[in-house]
Amino acid sequence: MTTSKKDIRALTKEQLRDFFVKEGDQAFRGNQVYEWLWSKGAHSFEDMTNVSIETRQMLEDNFVINHIRVDNMQKSSDGTIKNAVRLHDGLIVESVLIPTKTRTTACVSSQVGCSLDCRFCATSRLKRMRNLNPDEIFDQVVAIDKESRLYHNRPLSNIVFMGMGEPLMNYNNVLKAIDKITSDEGLGMSPKRIVVSTSGVPKMIKKMADDEVKFKLAVSLHSAIDEVRTSIMPFNETFPLADLREALEYWYAKTKNRITYEYVVWKDINDKKKDVEALIEFCKFAPSKVNLIEYNPIDDGEFQQANAEAIDMYVSMLEANHITVTVRRSRGKDIDAACGQLANKS
Ligand code: SF4
Repeated sequence: MTTSKKDIRALTKEQLRDFFVKEGDQAFRGNQVYEWLWSKGAHSFEDMTNVSIETRQMLEDNFVINHIRVDNMQKSSDGTIKNAVRLHDGLIVESVLIPTKTRTTACVSSQVGCSLDCRFCATSRLKRMRNLNPDEIFDQVVAIDKESRLYHNRPLSNIVFMGMGEPLMNYNNVLKAIDKITSDEGLGMSPKRIVVSTSGVPKMIKKMADDEVKFKLAVSLHSAIDEVRTSIMPFNETFPLADLREALEYWYAKTKNRITYEYVVWKDINDKKKDVEALIEFCKFAPSKVNLIEYNPIDDGEFQQANAEAIDMYVSMLEANHITVTVRRSRGKDIDAACGQLANKS
């Protein structure tokens, strides 16, 4: 339901302190309420038990707390969990918990739908409706952390921005959410455990470098040959590889942070020796590693996972050139929770 009241979590701590002072109260009341909102995860003003009933009513009259709601939770046979998350205006996004032996990772969404058009990705078929607010991103992480503790007996250890949407097209809100996730008043998580994965928006990669962000960067590369990349990721026409490469060089020069390339090998698209050679050249200009990701077919069958020989060729040629390469098996395929499969089907 929409409301004209303001979302209280859009206010900074300073703004909350100022609000209370204007209301004739004391600034520290702002700290108290802020703590309830972010550290204690209050879902209503009633939860704020150390705040007087009159003050809680006054907050109720002026603000709302737009919490997300997990509408549907699906569990995969491999322990992966997918949440369909309803936002305050009724729109839905998805987030995923991926457990392995050593870590539990939250894959979170940054937009409702996506404005980009990667042809292999189910989300690209959903029209971009809007950007997520910082609190909506934060809440996805909190929900997954709770599930991690409940079903896997350990807190969340890592976060990847690899769900629905292009995070760098919602940069300010993603940054604010990460601030909350990493601050002591939020979840206190190390930024080193957070990866922002982009399809490669050169201007925004440079901006991140200028902002001296502390989280890690991954790029969905999928091809280091312009014609091939444009055929599967049409926006590559606007942001060609030369521009991407220049931005990544800038990123590394400023941050000294190694870049991860996410890369799917598809049959008859990028499974030839020339594709690997181009990738090797692309990897040489800045320290990087390559994640070869298993492909999860979306229903039209246009894209098919390359055969094992092609994957082996990638691994051996990359290793021969001293480039770190990992082959990533996909998780949660049976519940459409794997990479590229998020499309609000549940
Ligand atoms: S892969 Fe990412 S950027 Fe590309 S369409 Fe899907 S959600 Fe958007």
